[in-house]
Amino acid sequence: MRENRISGRAAGANIDVVAIFDGDSVMLDILVIAPHPDDAELGMGGAILKFKAAGLRVGVLDLTSGEPTPYGSLEIRARETAAATAVLGLDWRDNLGLPNRSLEPTLAAREQLAVVFRQQRPRWLFAPYWIDAHPDHVAATQLIEAARFWAKLSNTKMAGEPYHPERIYNYYCVHLKLALQPAFILDISDEWEKKRAAIECYQSQFVTGRPVEPPTFVDSLRDEAASWGKTIGTKYGEPFTSREPLGLSTMAGLV
Ligand SMILES: [Zn+2]
Repeated sequence: MRENRISGRAAGANIDVVAIFDGDSVMLDILVIAPHPDDAELGMGGAILKFKAAGLRVGVLDLTSGEPTPYGSLEIRARETAAATAVLGLDWRDNLGLPNRSLEPTLAAREQLAVVFRQQRPRWLFAPYWIDAHPDHVAATQLIEAARFWAKLSNTKMAGEPYHPERIYNYYCVHLKLALQPAFILDISDEWEKKRAAIECYQSQFVTGRPVEPPTFVDSLRDEAASWGKTIGTKYGEPFTSREPLGLSTMAGLV
């Protein structure tokens, strides 16, 4: 195993992230794609920590800067993203630099993302849930599904070799009050406190300007995680779904 230090762009600013390579073939086991920096942490910070604890190589690709926001800026958001990246212990993180608030699944963006899939070669992709009030989130999921298909094309001018990620799973970071029907819920009882720490790195998004009396915004996230945990008999849980059926080779991981 060799370690490469590569330049990542978190929310438009340069930070150093470390990518670990076993060889030249599969660089990442899992790639989480997020419309904005903080969506990956909110939707599946617990799962990311669980994957890392299991020795998997996990990357996050933020599609846009997420800015402007009422209390953020490009510089603040980049610092917060770098801090959350360190808490999660990610192997790789980058920002595709697509337009925030006006994200669209264009052909140009599809090619950009397909090239990332061809180069990083993750086995599994995690995308936002496909129903949302935020147009960037809906566009992100459409873009990811199209780019996954494009990544396998041969005889193109795209960089990298053809590659098809095996699965797309969907995490929930939804701006709608939906009655969710997840396909499975992951037990994140051991990961919750660290997930909370990763979320709290985004002070400009989740702390500044929000109520300080309990339950705070982050407290409400804890309560939500506890509610999902209750449905599977654990302290905290994180819900997921997929458009495709889920396959199991063993029942061992079921709680
Ligand atoms: Zn978002």
